[in-house]
Amino acid sequence: MTFLQVENLITRYQTSRGLVHALDDVSFSLEKGDSIGIAGESACGKSTLGLSLIRMIQGGKIVSGKIIFDGESILDLTESEFDKKYRWKKTSMIFQGAMNTLDPVYSIKQQFVEVLNQHNFEGDYERVILDAVHSVNLDENVLQKYPHELSGGMKQRIIIAMALLLKPKFVIADEPTTALDVLIQAQIVNLLKKLKKDGMSIMLITHDLGVLSELADKIGIMYAGKMIEYGTSHDIYKNPKHPYTQGLLESIPTLHGGKPKFIKGNPPDLVNPKQGCRFIDRCPEAMEKCKQDPPKFKTDSGYVMCWLYDDKV
Ligand code: SF4
Repeated sequence: MTFLQVENLITRYQTSRGLVHALDDVSFSLEKGDSIGIAGESACGKSTLGLSLIRMIQGGKIVSGKIIFDGESILDLTESEFDKKYRWKKTSMIFQGAMNTLDPVYSIKQQFVEVLNQHNFEGDYERVILDAVHSVNLDENVLQKYPHELSGGMKQRIIIAMALLLKPKFVIADEPTTALDVLIQAQIVNLLKKLKKDGMSIMLITHDLGVLSELADKIGIMYAGKMIEYGTSHDIYKNPKHPYTQGLLESIPTLHGGKPKFIKGNPPDLVNPKQGCRFIDRCPEAMEKCKQDPPKFKTDSGYVMCWLYDDKV
């Protein structure tokens, strides 16, 4: 059963240089209990996609498109309806670098209480806080501590527990393992796997395709504001179609492989981007036709936006 449907989503930011086309015509869907990984290099629109799904775009706005969550069009709700029904209750977000935002002068418990107060929670505070702390495999003693008394891994678990406080069905995790050492990364990935096993749908946003392979059922590859390839994790890893996806996978270092390859050049400026494929200046297979915007060509499990697949897939 489809639980999240995103259709032709467009989000833009107004800046002093002009309108930034941060998210352009993004579409995908997610079945109940499925997890999706969103990958791509910096400033490709990954975080903007996550923020659009919880309607927290600062300095910009969702211009058009649809987000259907559990059968309801959430862009048609007023801000207060969305806040009351969805934010933190049905969907929440683990923000990028959030462990550094824990307030150093309040205990962890006080910070949990503040989240519950902010969301006008009316139930048993003790119970939900303990449930959240236990769900991330932390001991309740942690509640009396202050952030400086915790390791990086524990702080990240606290942030995840805060996102789980009101038991949402869908959690967006934006780079939850960045800046953690590899052992802590493995712990956090295992924790996300456990949450997924318990029935939660997760959107994992990362530039680390290795982390995604552990967790995602579906993968969306973002480039310059567009989701240029979308499909099952198996198809994206085993048979990547878009030259950018192929380049990303070839850039992962392997233990026994040769030297990783790199994609030359930089992504285009998203202030008034040119018409045509946005990867054209970096693509080894670019052709004349690529000066026109590529549509979505269907693949076995999703789509690819590349003229190479015109009439071929
Ligand atoms: Fe390369 Fe053309 Fe495909 Fe873009 S549409 S990725 S330029 S082949």
